Amino acid sequence: MHAMSTTASETLLRHWIGGRRDERAAERHGEVTDPATGEVVARVPFATRDDVDRAVRAAAEAAVAWGAASLTRRAQVMFAFRELVDRHKDELAALITREHGKVLSDARGEVTRGLEVVEFACGLGHLLKGEVTPQVSGGVDSHSLRMPLGVVAGITPFNFPVMVPLWMAPVALACGNAFILKPSEQDPSASLRMAELLAEAGLPDGVFSVVHGDKEAVDAILGHPGIAAVSFVGSTPVAQHIYETGTRHGKRVQALGGAKNHAVVLPDADLDLAADGLVSAAYGSAGQRCMAVSVAVAVGDVAEPLIDRIRERIDKLAIGPGTDPSSDMGPLVSERHHEKVAGLVEAGVDEGAELAVDGRDLVVDGHEGGYFLGPCVFDRVRPGMRVYDEEIFGPVLVVVRADSYPEALELVNANPYGNGAAIFTRDGGAARLFEQQATAGMIGVNVPIPVPMAYHSFGGWKGSLFGDLHMHGPDGVRFYTRGKVVTTRWPDPSQRGVNLGFPTQS
Ligand code: NAD
Repeated sequence: MHAMSTTASETLLRHWIGGRRDERAAERHGEVTDPATGEVVARVPFATRDDVDRAVRAAAEAAVAWGAASLTRRAQVMFAFRELVDRHKDELAALITREHGKVLSDARGEVTRGLEVVEFACGLGHLLKGEVTPQVSGGVDSHSLRMPLGVVAGITPFNFPVMVPLWMAPVALACGNAFILKPSEQDPSASLRMAELLAEAGLPDGVFSVVHGDKEAVDAILGHPGIAAVSFVGSTPVAQHIYETGTRHGKRVQALGGAKNHAVVLPDADLDLAADGLVSAAYGSAGQRCMAVSVAVAVGDVAEPLIDRIRERIDKLAIGPGTDPSSDMGPLVSERHHEKVAGLVEAGVDEGAELAVDGRDLVVDGHEGGYFLGPCVFDRVRPGMRVYDEEIFGPVLVVVRADSYPEALELVNANPYGNGAAIFTRDGGAARLFEQQATAGMIGVNVPIPVPMAYHSFGGWKGSLFGDLHMHGPDGVRFYTRGKVVTTRWPDPSQRGVNLGFPTQS
């Protein structure tokens, strides 16, 4: 946190309230750094309770007309937004890479996956259809409606600064709500660009707002009586805080937490395919994905041949700045996160895990100030070691050896997280059993990162989700609407007459 003074190369960011940049000077700011160099590239204002209140007031006013706007009008905005995001994909990807560090191709992929939710939201006419039951009683019909909630908020993590806000906002807006986004203070610029694109797409002022900040802004959102629902994605302890505080204030809350995704590799698996999948899923985005595979459970004699194949693939990876098209993997997001991940690698060594691939000494020429860490693989890891028990969220894959499928399944199911789980096998029966038995929200069969398409819902089980409903897809529509059932009768003289009995069918 710093007093505001910017140099020529730094951008001074603003909140986005009432359909425009908020010019009010902030008391507190955060620094946004380029993780490939360690240089400060922007300063982000931290919202106070008053700033959040101003955003909620603007949103509440705008929500009335937006909730009553025709579906055609709302769909037109969604279609126009879809085109604009697609047209500005490279620009958004560049903003992501500058503040997050991931390579540009990965950043473009993130925007594409976010766009899928915008495309899903373009079908709102179909999604919001109610149900009709004629003649529930003589001359009486019933129909059900899905109504918007009003003002809803989203609080998002650093690791997908475009995709995760797009898991929430398009569905919330299409359902007729006003949406307030509190993006991660570590990479906030892309959210402002999306606000501009939504305005250009024709979204009325106040329907989408961005308030930046830290715990103070989040707690102001959680306590604000004008906000009906909160969607959160981030780490498990914060997800639990959001869920407990938000629900205590009477809000509907869905809070997605951290992960420790296991991939079980059975002896009959195609080991080359498994190694390709594990390396892609463990080291993509330097392991900073909630769907990263961070534990490989090697069943039977698979560990050694599997690790050999993983090592061969790691040797070919180029690690460097995300802006260099030849880089496969970029840096970690911040110096603090780099320290945390490097500390966990040291803990793994101290606790007796075998560091089969050691990325600790990596230096990227010309980027000595960047937060780079080379890919690491630990073998012979066991529960109880910190590298197994904690979410590392870095380029570290741990291998646990198991004698049998039941032992592997027990590990997956004993884990307190339950975001995703994968199995690599050629045995359809074993895959089907795993699909039925694994206690995780998203299962991959020979697919390491089973991130569902937008028309299915995304979410985990156990410590990876607080709340009931997952994000986007059918669950997203349920989360951002509430039901109403209407019972109608049209005047019919034959049905006149007072009856004090409780109405029953006739
Ligand atoms: P984080 O929990 O530190 O921050 C998430 C958001 O909460 C940010 O907007 C941040 O400003 C805010 N925040 C942080 N500390 C807070 C506090 N004490 N009180 C109130 N608000 C607070 O998470 P992160 O480091 O930005 O993101 C990485 C985490 O997110 C990982 O644990 C990862 O697994 C998880 N994640 C989960 C999913 C999923 O779908 N389950 C997806 C992406 C990321």
